[in-house]
Amino acid sequence: MFIAFEGGEGSGKTTQSRLLAIWLRDQGFDVVQTREPGSTKVGMRLRAILLDAVHQGLSARSEALMYAADRAEHVEKIILPALQRGSMVVCDRYVDSSLAYQGAGRELEPEDVVTINRWATGGLVPDLTVLIDVPPSVGLTRLGGAADRIESEPQEFHERVRREFRSLAAAEPDRYLVVDGTLPQNQVSMIIHDRVREILPD
Ligand code: C5P
Ligand code: MG
Repeated sequence: MFIAFEGGEGSGKTTQSRLLAIWLRDQGFDVVQTREPGSTKVGMRLRAILLDAVHQGLSARSEALMYAADRAEHVEKIILPALQRGSMVVCDRYVDSSLAYQGAGRELEPEDVVTINRWATGGLVPDLTVLIDVPPSVGLTRLGGAADRIESEPQEFHERVRREFRSLAAAEPDRYLVVDGTLPQNQVSMIIHDRVREILPD
């Protein structure tokens, strides 16, 4: 089973994906907890390029291709092998981040972003995507100031990203759980557990 977490900056997806992995392990599941970008050797180098403020002004198309390359490597080397062994995969960000950031944020043609990512992933889609939704003003404040190239984009950029995540979720309610990320951490976890429980194998 493949569960992805999505959301804007400072939404708490990293914390919640860690907590979900712990909860699943407590129930006896083998869990691979992973994230994008940067979970493979090549991915770590791509992450460094993608997030370094020195690359401000990177072409939107090369940004989209590098995220897709990181993802291709991630799917082939980590996610698919784990799923084939029967492990649960909990992933912090996946294709929807590219639709939100490179598609809506960078205003690339959405169909193009879909196409390169379908190719990069071989069409692998999560069983469940948890969107932790927070207003950008809240998320960026939580981070205590922008730390990387993307976080320092203007508020309108982050508003476009949030709108896109919400509309992706609204279009596919069966695959998505949208959680209000401004709720207390343990409440967010409980809402996630309730939904995941419904889809767990016996
Ligand atoms: O989730 P995390 O904050 O570690 O992600 C690293 C950065 O990469 C974030 O600032 C996020 O905005 C950016 N990102 C992106 N496009 C993606 C995935 C992540 O701009 N497809
Ligand atoms: Mg970040």
